Amino acid sequence: MADDASSTSSGKPGEDDRGGGFLSDLFAPVAGFGVSFSTMFRKVATEEYPEKPRPTAPRFHGRHQLNRHPDGLEKCVGCELCAWACPADAILVEGADNDDTPLEQGGKGRFSPGERYGRVYQINYLRCIFCGLCIEACPTRALTMTNFYELADNDRGKLIFTKDQLLAPLQSGMLPPPFPMVDGLEERDYYQGKVTTSTDAQRAYVGARDAAADDESASVHGPGNPGAAVPGEHDVAHAADFTAAQTREGANP
Ligand code: SF4
Ligand code: SF4
Repeated sequence: MADDASSTSSGKPGEDDRGGGFLSDLFAPVAGFGVSFSTMFRKVATEEYPEKPRPTAPRFHGRHQLNRHPDGLEKCVGCELCAWACPADAILVEGADNDDTPLEQGGKGRFSPGERYGRVYQINYLRCIFCGLCIEACPTRALTMTNFYELADNDRGKLIFTKDQLLAPLQSGMLPPPFPMVDGLEERDYYQGKVTTSTDAQRAYVGARDAAADDESASVHGPGNPGAAVPGEHDVAHAADFTAAQTREGANP
């Protein structure tokens, strides 16, 4: 007679035929807790984020940074290669010419060694996929990626980072551009490591530049309103960045 699919080893319908002995019968009611019990004795993997952020791998691809030379001049030369390499169209660069004409004669100043610098620089972190192709494309190592990864916000506009936010902070010995290159050196000397800090001449230039800006501010607003903010070139450039960001998002959301 053919076997019935519902039949058991004992031949009695409904009886478990998986075999097993006394021990398996004894532990069968708690067998389902095996995974739970074994997990209780493992090392706790709970992350205490954000109080204790976990260190990333050394080469983790996080937020970008625009680097500086040791005297403070910017490494970015506004070539746009990073923007062209980006598969997500997340980078906007607008280059401009450095201008060694004295500021009092209407010069715009020098922000990087060589011919041009990145006047506008934006990275849209709503688009960026952190692939790193942009930093591979950068010929001057101006653009690198940090390990910072806390990039979340409720405001889409705040996730378009501008040049002010991306520029590396000034380290010891650095000055805020614009100011001239080190006397007697060329652009290539910066990349050959011949500049290690700012010079006395550069410090004097920046001191005079800032003093002139303070005088101009006082003459515009008068002594009765010393705290009034005067939009300098830096602020104007930032406003231009914001306008460009809006344009880009509006044209291609
Ligand atoms: S990491 Fe990739 S996606 Fe992000 S800006 Fe660079 S090239 Fe574009
Ligand atoms: S970050 Fe590098 S690749 Fe991008 S514009 Fe500046 S110099 Fe060129």
